[in-house]
Amino acid sequence: MNRIGIVTSGGDAPGMNPAIRSVVRTARAENIEVIGFNRGYYGLINEIYQQLDVRMVGGILEKGGTILRTLRCREFETAEGLKKAAQNLDHLGIEGLIVIGGDGSLRGAAELLDFWNGQVVGIPGSIDNDIGGTDLCLGFDTAVNTALESVDRIRDTATSHERLFIIEVMGRASGHIALSVGLAGGAEEILIPEEEYEVDSIVTRVRAARKRGKLHYIIVLAEGAGKGFWLADELEEKSGMETRVAVLGHIQRGGKPLAFDRIIGAKMGSYAVQTLLEGESGVCIGVRSGRRNLTDLLEAVEGKSLSWENRGISQTLSI
Ligand code: ADP
Repeated sequence: MNRIGIVTSGGDAPGMNPAIRSVVRTARAENIEVIGFNRGYYGLINEIYQQLDVRMVGGILEKGGTILRTLRCREFETAEGLKKAAQNLDHLGIEGLIVIGGDGSLRGAAELLDFWNGQVVGIPGSIDNDIGGTDLCLGFDTAVNTALESVDRIRDTATSHERLFIIEVMGRASGHIALSVGLAGGAEEILIPEEEYEVDSIVTRVRAARKRGKLHYIIVLAEGAGKGFWLADELEEKSGMETRVAVLGHIQRGGKPLAFDRIIGAKMGSYAVQTLLEGESGVCIGVRSGRRNLTDLLEAVEGKSLSWENRGISQTLSI
């Protein structure tokens, strides 16, 4: 193998840069050239790229986001777009492609194999942590810690004013962030898309908590589990507790990757190159119990199940 490509696609996640650095340095150590495509699959279709060497990935380890930048690209979801990307990869003499991204990006990576004869390996970069075959996805740990810092701060003011707070965290279709932030932050309530809830039951629990002497009531709400402001109006009216909403939003995507994401970024990048060299294709890299785990791309995008055990523990501790 003489030349590989790398692309970051979809939502950015802290840890993508450490993974890019790892891919480039592992590949260069094997004398393999690395082409970095800019702006996700758009760069693949439009041949926007640069050759990456070891010095170019110096000083990016501690940087959030992705130096290759990212974009959502509808054209890549069409046969024409995929064909164009395949032609460009052949034209550039690329034999293996590493895709770092979430479920959409990895689905696209699998689709590309219908049009291209090279090898494709995915790295799960998703703060939502919704890719299967790995204990954790790149970016999740940093995003959870970022949100947790806000929860701790909000709790101070919530207690002082004896308020109910709804803190909306990311997670359109998955409750991984909410569940971890809620458990780590001692939330009274965690609302996730995987589970239905009734406003009246929450009201009953809020009232009971007030009777037990709770000074605040923190609800961590995954963005896919309902509208924070609507819920706040309902809860304030029915429980009588003064209610505020904090939407954390894109703050959770930014910031420097914490140690854990740098370490799995380094490992996943290195594993990805190793996997290409072994001739594998159509697989997603995972780290399970500290070791490399390969999963079929289409299986990986089916997602991973929530830790219901954590859910149970958080409920018990919220008393
Ligand atoms: P993420 O990778 O973070 O889940 P998206 O779901 O927006 O983000 O996907 C990123 C990009 O991956 C899309 O803009 C598109 O270019 C590509 N993509 C998503 N789904 C498919 C698909 N089914 N086939 C081909 N490409 C896809």
